[in-house]
Amino acid sequence: MQYISTRDMCVQCSASEAIVQGLSRDGGLLTPYYIPKLPGNAIEELAAMAYQQRAVYVMKQFLEEFTVKELTSFANAAYGPDKFDTPAVAPVRTVTDDIHCLELWHGPTCAFKDMALQMLPHLLSASLVKTEEQKTACILVATSGDTGKGALEGFRDVDRTKILVFYPKDGVSQVQELQMVTQEGANVGVCAVHGNFDDAQTGVKRLFSDEALREELAGKGYFFSSANSINWGRVLPQIVYYVSAYCDLLRDGKVQPGQAINVCVPTGNFGNILAASYAREMGVPIEKLICASNSNNVLTDFIRTGHYDRNRTFFNTISPSMDILISSNLERLLLTLTKDVEEVKGYMDQLNATGSYRVSGRALEKLQKHFAGYCCDDDETRRVIDRVYKEYQYLIDPHTAVAFSALEQYRSETKDETACLVVSTASPFKFSSSVLEALGEKTVAEGLDALDQLTAKTGIPAPAPLAGLRDKQVRFTQSVNKENMVDAVRSMLG
Ligand SMILES: *Cc1c(COP(=O)(O)O)cnc(C)c1O
Repeated sequence: MQYISTRDMCVQCSASEAIVQGLSRDGGLLTPYYIPKLPGNAIEELAAMAYQQRAVYVMKQFLEEFTVKELTSFANAAYGPDKFDTPAVAPVRTVTDDIHCLELWHGPTCAFKDMALQMLPHLLSASLVKTEEQKTACILVATSGDTGKGALEGFRDVDRTKILVFYPKDGVSQVQELQMVTQEGANVGVCAVHGNFDDAQTGVKRLFSDEALREELAGKGYFFSSANSINWGRVLPQIVYYVSAYCDLLRDGKVQPGQAINVCVPTGNFGNILAASYAREMGVPIEKLICASNSNNVLTDFIRTGHYDRNRTFFNTISPSMDILISSNLERLLLTLTKDVEEVKGYMDQLNATGSYRVSGRALEKLQKHFAGYCCDDDETRRVIDRVYKEYQYLIDPHTAVAFSALEQYRSETKDETACLVVSTASPFKFSSSVLEALGEKTVAEGLDALDQLTAKTGIPAPAPLAGLRDKQVRFTQSVNKENMVDAVRSMLG
């Protein structure tokens, strides 16, 4: 299967080249030329299989150069019992007759980034061999929290890779910082940056574009690569869990063969919901995709009006992984809607120049056929956490709560009661303080003690990877000014 740039049909490459490159040189996103259809009986067959086998089957449709044997070994390593705390890997929990929750946080870092970041390193190191790249990949990551830890866990001790994560010294939670500075593995590095997330992100971009540094590192056998969510190797493993969730619903008699469901996804960079859209194109019976946003509701407005406008106030919310005004993966959906790379390039040029664009009437019509957008603020997010806990004895994190709110709004507006799969993206324990406040606790403990408080309040044990942080050694204490991030690269790569 060929992959093309969303901005230029002439840029063509194989899957392994797309995974090694990450981003196309013209700034576009490398994307499959077409989305393969699942054979008619595939879902019934997959329903009898384990998650790992489903992953192999779905990914194989996009990865001709990879053998089933290879993919099987990747899936077993990525989604094995030493990584995920349930054999189902991505279990579907039925909340009511027509609300099912897809829990994507049973992996080593307790957030949904694990679903892709456990798989990406295997795809990348095999792609290095297939593309005859001789050098070792040095993955640079700037993180505001979840991605950094997810990438560190995914790449730890993976052959021919090194990973270096930069985080803003005062921009991540105590638990998130502890998760990163205690990271184990021989090929990992973590460095704090004095500044905010933008400083760290800008610094990483500068390292990527530093030609002299690139040559210096090439001499030592390294090249820079990226693990951020525009890499096709991160989108692909996310398609799997939508296919898998439908298989579970079918296997458990919650839907009949072919019965349509809706999907509701808490959205930031648009990677997760894009994967749902691809699963729909492959033939999973999904009718509506409900896009849930917090107060940074640029996508809600876009879906309603066709006008994407990032020129607005940025809010720091209690669902921080969705605090984003440029949803990079939306560019791939634009290609699906327009089937015209020139048109996509035009929109992206406008976005770069003015911070906004308006899609054509035709594209908007296609968008609204399958997408609906809703948003809610922090107060509503807290109320939903409390309400869902009291009504269904189900504890959810703030990101998932935004999705529950969106579903409520969608149903009351449209009267569409189609069974809905709500995507749950983080363990509530990862955001213990916000969850405790939502449940009405007047005082909330500091740092890891908040985990115990949430357990005391609900009787639910904290996930082992978070509870275990107390006993971990701090391995990384380096911090640099934003001008000196290159020092961290040199000290890691020698
Ligand atoms: C990254 C993240 C999201 C947003 O996912 P996108 O693919 O960027 O839309 C939502 N919730 C949590 C907990 C996340 O870590």
